[in-house]
Amino acid sequence: MIAGGLFSVPGLLSLFAMLQLPVQDSLRLSVQTDRGSEHFRFPDIPPPAVNDAGAEGMWRVIAGRADVNSGGITCLNDGRIPTNADDPRGNFFLAAGTVEGLITLDLQKSVPIGEVVSYSWHTGGRAPQVYTLYGATGDESGFVVPDTVADVADLRGWTKIADVDSRPNGAQGGQHAVRLDRADGVLGNFRHLLISIRSTDRGDRFGQTFFSEIDVVTGDPAELRRVELPAVREISFTTSDNSYEFCVETTQAQELEEWTERDLKPVILEWYPRIVQLLPGQGYQPPRRVRFRFLPDADMPGIPAYAAGSVISLNREWFRGQLQGEAPGCVVHELVHVVQQYPARGRRLRDGAAVPGWLVEGIPDYIRWFLFEPERGGARLSAERRRVAKHDASYRVSANFLDWVIRRQPADARILEQLNAAAREGRYTPELWQKLTGSTEQQLAEEWRSE
Ligand SMILES: [Zn+2]
Repeated sequence: MIAGGLFSVPGLLSLFAMLQLPVQDSLRLSVQTDRGSEHFRFPDIPPPAVNDAGAEGMWRVIAGRADVNSGGITCLNDGRIPTNADDPRGNFFLAAGTVEGLITLDLQKSVPIGEVVSYSWHTGGRAPQVYTLYGATGDESGFVVPDTVADVADLRGWTKIADVDSRPNGAQGGQHAVRLDRADGVLGNFRHLLISIRSTDRGDRFGQTFFSEIDVVTGDPAELRRVELPAVREISFTTSDNSYEFCVETTQAQELEEWTERDLKPVILEWYPRIVQLLPGQGYQPPRRVRFRFLPDADMPGIPAYAAGSVISLNREWFRGQLQGEAPGCVVHELVHVVQQYPARGRRLRDGAAVPGWLVEGIPDYIRWFLFEPERGGARLSAERRRVAKHDASYRVSANFLDWVIRRQPADARILEQLNAAAREGRYTPELWQKLTGSTEQQLAEEWRSE
């Protein structure tokens, strides 16, 4: 299986991205993002606090509205973090199509605010944060809480604290944390905070930030109680020549650690380098680090596994039931996706067409069922079934077709290698079949069916 994100998540697991910008005088804007972890672990910004001043305050949406699928404005101060990268109920976000919206926090009385820290989490363009923060005591002359976005142009009584934009070079998904503070004191004495939230991508009506929590810190941040994070458990190993590194995160599936060590690790160590050899390309460097993580079924309902860039997510419940069955082969299939690295959908291709989905999935299933575990016969077709089969039916059926094409050509035709390289390099076209085999794709499919 592949997830929609397979082609869109760039390269390796990012480590942390950090950015510290002097904004004006002593104001500090610190942006940290992380695409690898699950639990808001940043190098300098602690995870969200449970008992910050914001937790007691009253958040309201005053212009725009919360998306009906979001968990509502209370997500901002409930001291809870989302459970995964796509957890709408665990976040507050504005309705699709919103260009700008306003939210306020009323702390009931003016307090010295030392820090404001905003956390967000999503896989794509809904992770970055773009907003402007204002503060007021409420006693300023002419002070009003604006009713509409247009009112912000002429805000009376409010102090602008900072403009925030956590879109680092267009980088997108992951967890973002933005901390605003001042090197020489507090941000100010305020009762009210106003946040003007803007879309992260004007070209995408869904470019609405998934805000997970906004902390308002009045005292010593070190004394705040933080959300509890599970201890990360990982099994790491490296090929004997140090070419490739693997890490299997078992934090949410400790019962699978023994199987991972004993059964899965040798399969990965043997087969990742073999897949790399099977699918070479001129100047092509496969990902050197591959990360696996077991997730609960709730995070990937009904999907056994998927690859995104060089990260493979494995469905804990599905794996539990398949340890003696399909589990290793499923991982081999996903490892092929990691090596494929075909161009993202929508990206400009060299001379070719988009690689058809049946080939994207047929190649991993060919390697899995005909090279890794042929004895299981998982992609065998009886003559009767083949007669009515479609070569582009994807997965096992397409794997059967590929096996047939590959076997009837001389080995030096290197069909698999050629198909894959063309696909990866944006050169794939349906005419390639004729060039490689002397027959068109349709002729091959007919012959395959009738044999
Ligand atoms: Zn797949």
